Amino acid sequence: MGFLVYFPENHGAMLGATRMSTDFIPVANAIGYSPEICSYLTSDVGAYLKKQTPLAKAYPGIESIPKPDVLVFNTNQCRDVYDWFAFYGREFKAPVIGIQTHRNVGTVTDAHIRSVAEQMKALIPTLAKISNKKFDETELKRVLALSLECSILWRKVLETAASAPSPLTFFDGTIQMGPAVVMRGTQQAVDYYKLLLPELEERARNKSAAVPDEKYRFYWDGMPVWGKLRPLSELFASLKSCVVASTYCNSWVFEAFNPDDPFNSMAKAYLELFIVRSDEVKEQYIERMISKFKVNGLIFHDSKSCPNNTNSRYGMPQRLQERLKIPTLTISGDLNDLRCYSEEQTKTAIEAFVEQMTM
Ligand code: SF4
Repeated sequence: MGFLVYFPENHGAMLGATRMSTDFIPVANAIGYSPEICSYLTSDVGAYLKKQTPLAKAYPGIESIPKPDVLVFNTNQCRDVYDWFAFYGREFKAPVIGIQTHRNVGTVTDAHIRSVAEQMKALIPTLAKISNKKFDETELKRVLALSLECSILWRKVLETAASAPSPLTFFDGTIQMGPAVVMRGTQQAVDYYKLLLPELEERARNKSAAVPDEKYRFYWDGMPVWGKLRPLSELFASLKSCVVASTYCNSWVFEAFNPDDPFNSMAKAYLELFIVRSDEVKEQYIERMISKFKVNGLIFHDSKSCPNNTNSRYGMPQRLQERLKIPTLTISGDLNDLRCYSEEQTKTAIEAFVEQMTM
């Protein structure tokens, strides 16, 4: 409908990766947003209140968080997104509309799909009024076809890591996923992966390893620790270990999209996403990933301020370890709040975990 889309969540990740979040979180805490809730939210709200953003450095001309005409939320990952957008709705006196989705979904049923698809359609009149544009289904189909193409290419990029040695790591993936996250639905995102995929395929064929002398292969579940990508990447590399796959990077693969049935297929794609599924479905998914990527061990990140993307709190690592006879390690940390992360403890735990592989 002609809107330029800005995602506060991506700004949150930028604040984490630039390690600016630790300065901003207390600012949001001071106005009542608890340190226990999403640290993307608290970093972003704190940055807004302090009138600072890493965007200004990356893109001269952007001085602050942009003023929205409308805020559109989807609770499919968590309620925090709604509360976050409601904050900006009050600040900018902009309408906040959205979709309330199902959580803990086992089998995705027609009733689930209908409910989400209808909520999507219900957004149209408000968006049409704000954009002063009539909804054009042909345009939606065109954008969705590009989103589908991007999803397929991104999945293939990630799958190059199934080769041994792997040509890319989870840490590379957290950077390379940028276009699939913020530019999905554009030709540029498709072109980006059309360039990247053959290069990775060639590296896989030539056995050009992301981690020289790769010996062990791990799966990462949960959020990245954005402010520690480099030290963690270097630590695993020093232990000849490659984190070859993750739940996180795969969260931007939406292959259920069907341009001929846009609303139902979008609803299906978002309902099938890992984060909204029951533990049983999540465990089956991880089991398939272990076999596809020939994984030696599972690492769970217990992210203090994101229970929604933390899967280690209800016995999942223990169940998988017992059933699949695969070692697991749970790391305590956070996506953005580095006060919850101990570099020393994490290093010791990972070193011991890798050492255990040799026994
Ligand atoms: S899923 Fe986690 S990190 Fe993402 S917005 Fe929700 S609480 Fe924050």
